[in-house]
Amino acid sequence: MKIIDGTLVSPGKGGVYGERTLGEWRIWDPYRSKLAALVLKGVDVALDSSVNVLYLGAANGTTVSHVADYAGTVYAVEFAPRPMQDLIEVSRRRTNIVPIMADVNRMQVYEMLVEQVDLIYQDVAQPNQAAIAAHHLKFLKKGGIFILMLKTRSVNVREDPKAVCEASVQHLEAAGLVVETVQWLDPYHRDHAALVCRLPEE
Ligand code: SAM
Repeated sequence: MKIIDGTLVSPGKGGVYGERTLGEWRIWDPYRSKLAALVLKGVDVALDSSVNVLYLGAANGTTVSHVADYAGTVYAVEFAPRPMQDLIEVSRRRTNIVPIMADVNRMQVYEMLVEQVDLIYQDVAQPNQAAIAAHHLKFLKKGGIFILMLKTRSVNVREDPKAVCEASVQHLEAAGLVVETVQWLDPYHRDHAALVCRLPEE
């Protein structure tokens, strides 16, 4: 991904959600996007047109739009009607976003629509975030990457965020992922950890 003088950008036509531009580039704000925060904290995320993505928790399509600037097909799942309207609008301006209105706890609704992907990105702020991730591994190619944006306070508001994170790491590893990087996203997003995982080849 491209960083110009410390500013993360993506290629694509601007004016999607009021983002600023830098020449031909769309500025990708780390305070509005946990994925931007992760990249600006130094974690390399390989994203190009050969990478197809399943995106869980698409919201209004803010981050989705930037991911789609770099990636191949992006299957974007969201269950709330209001953000879904914006997501559909964002999808109209791109040729590679497939918006899916569904609950990620009911993947049978969309499993016929989604192919095996190279990257799964999950940002759903639910108590069962690790379990949702584990259930979606069937969509991930061997050797593929799973990025879980863990909102620790959604799992347990009273528990120490580091303990919540450690329990989630154990859950993901028990499900078969190798957790390669744990990156806290402060100061951009408090009590959020990005768990960057790989599904082993064997
Ligand atoms: N990823 C978005 C971005 O960076 O632009 C922000 C996502 S927001 C933190 C979390 C989203 O997950 C909300 O839009 C919420 O409606 C959605 N969500 C939460 N639970 C969900 C579920 N069970 N199924 C589908 N979407 C869900």
